[in-house]
Amino acid sequence: MIISIVVPVYNEEEVLMDFHERLAAVLKNVEMDGEVVYVNDGSTDRSLPIIRSLRDRDPSVTIVDLSRNFGKEIAMTAGLDHATGDAVIVIDADLQDPPELIPKFIECWQQGYDVVYGQRLERDGESFAKISSAHAFYRVINYLTRVDIPVDSGDFRLFSRRAVDSLKQLKETHRFMKGLFAWIGFPQKAVMYKRDARFAGNTKWNYWALWNFAVEGITSFSAAPLKLAMYLGFSIAVLSFIYGIGIITNTLIFGNPVQGYPSLMVVVLFLGGVQLLSIGLLGEYIGRTFYESKNRPLYFVNSVESSRVATSKLES
Ligand code: UDP
Ligand code: MG
Repeated sequence: MIISIVVPVYNEEEVLMDFHERLAAVLKNVEMDGEVVYVNDGSTDRSLPIIRSLRDRDPSVTIVDLSRNFGKEIAMTAGLDHATGDAVIVIDADLQDPPELIPKFIECWQQGYDVVYGQRLERDGESFAKISSAHAFYRVINYLTRVDIPVDSGDFRLFSRRAVDSLKQLKETHRFMKGLFAWIGFPQKAVMYKRDARFAGNTKWNYWALWNFAVEGITSFSAAPLKLAMYLGFSIAVLSFIYGIGIITNTLIFGNPVQGYPSLMVVVLFLGGVQLLSIGLLGEYIGRTFYESKNRPLYFVNSVESSRVATSKLES
């Protein structure tokens, strides 16, 4: 049995050494062969030479070097594609996901769960705004979609072989991984843990990126926002009808001369806003269709340096 650990890496030179040390210590105590797949996502710092030096010393390291920076979601996908293990674990390189949880994940997998995910109890080193916006996002997306995306779960997960093979069949370009993980189904189990603050280096997320991530998640898993225009239109029509009756009555009874410039402006501006919003929404979905219809490969690989563990297993 082989357990593969997939690690997306983008400019993590400060943490890689410590990370690998902690991971290797954990893997030593697991009764399976470990394979560590580092996916270098176009790092511009010394991450790649560091991973290479790790591979020189540790035969279980596989390196997948992507042709440029594709983003974490694609880097994870590349890692899952290249992992050979009977179970695959995805973990961040920045030590926010404690490698010490891996034996617990494996235990749940051996009990028959196909997906075992870490669920955060509390978050250190993250601002109130980030935590509360994350919460709101999970609530909205679970309300709008039919897949149940667990609250406060990250990408720190274990997948059984059949779960990985299922994920590989989802070929969409816009990869909202948390949604895809939930979408494949199979028995899934949460393991609670405390998410640490980043060990070193900086997060690659800012609020704009998070907002885009949220839009991505909602629009790739739900067509509900498309109905928004319909309901808004309907409500406005009903309100306008009532308002119209009011104006007519007013004019008939009081013979109201020229009046109503403010109300006219309000109505025109409001409707203009609603229309632009609806067009923007449509555009969001059309844009998505546009990207998906190109049907491009998800990523290109510069080089793959396989682990000596996996190859010796395959040969024997
Ligand atoms: N990452 C990546 N490509 C990117 C951005 C990030 O492979 O374009 C990796 C990064 O090296 C780390 C993981 O994804 O291992 C999580 O990144 P980060 O810590 O920035 O995200 P956060 O923990 O804040 O969600
Ligand atoms: Mg992080």
